[in-house]
Amino acid sequence: RQAARVAGWSGPGRTADGVEVAILANVADGSSARAATDHPVEGVGLFRTELAFLERADEPSVEEQADIYREVLDAFGGRRVVIRTLDAGSDKPLRFVHQPEEANPALGVRGDRIALAHPEIRAHQLDAITRAAEGSETSPWVMAPMIASPAEAAAFAAQVRERGLVAGVMIEVPAAAILAPAILAEVDFVSIGTNDLTQYTMAADRMSADLASLTDPWQPAVLHLIATVARAGRDQGKPVGVCGEAAADPILACVLVGLGVTSLSSAPVAAAAVGARLGGVSRSTCENAATAALATTDPAAAREAAAAVLENEE
Ligand code: PEP
Ligand code: MG
Repeated sequence: RQAARVAGWSGPGRTADGVEVAILANVADGSSARAATDHPVEGVGLFRTELAFLERADEPSVEEQADIYREVLDAFGGRRVVIRTLDAGSDKPLRFVHQPEEANPALGVRGDRIALAHPEIRAHQLDAITRAAEGSETSPWVMAPMIASPAEAAAFAAQVRERGLVAGVMIEVPAAAILAPAILAEVDFVSIGTNDLTQYTMAADRMSADLASLTDPWQPAVLHLIATVARAGRDQGKPVGVCGEAAADPILACVLVGLGVTSLSSAPVAAAAVGARLGGVSRSTCENAATAALATTDPAAAREAAAAVLENEE
């Protein structure tokens, strides 16, 4: 029955009682964005721009960047497209961003921090996004990765708004989740990166197969941080998305919605299953599943508790 529902699910994302939750795609370039339109997604929740330039030895020109960004905007003409500025460093080194040798690159100059030494790379990218937006019917939302403080969020938002664009940040550092009310006050939206938020909350390398149970986004400590962020978003009437792979797990997606998350973005292949599952449950069931998961102390128990609520109340 579930399989039949998944095959036929065509969006838009909403709970059984009609609460809208945008189901969005994570993409890497124009061709992956066009491929994403084969799935029932309503837009792009995370365009990882660094992935379009992994092979480049030199910084792509503003024109060349704008062409790539325009391809993604055009694939989703008129719909939401969230572009993330370069998340270089750590697991995604970029050759044209010359970075220092670091003992702990995941804790080093990565993401938004590259703009400290290379403000021109950030400025060129924002110029390219602005240029792409000018020729498109889609007005992108622009967000920064690896923001750790309200001051960093404010500095980024000022640069984005100067160009007439909507500004947001990723919440993937625990400090940013803890201070979510102050961060949200500086921006128009946030998107929670559960891959890194889990890595940094649990102090466990996301690339380590040996630590898979620690890097499980069902970790209750991570769910509590997500709850903090979602509550701040609700208080301020601002969107709080999730764009880590946690959003691809249909049961966890229901829990995220129960915590107050307003959009879910992941690999597009997950969209139909997530949308179908969410469409079968009410918001209050999602809230009950979230409450049950938050009351546990380990990931397996959290999943079991949430699944039991969803099964019983469906
Ligand atoms: C994340 O950290 O959850 C995220 C979406 O960003 P990335 O996986 O690209 O680091
Ligand atoms: Mg990340």
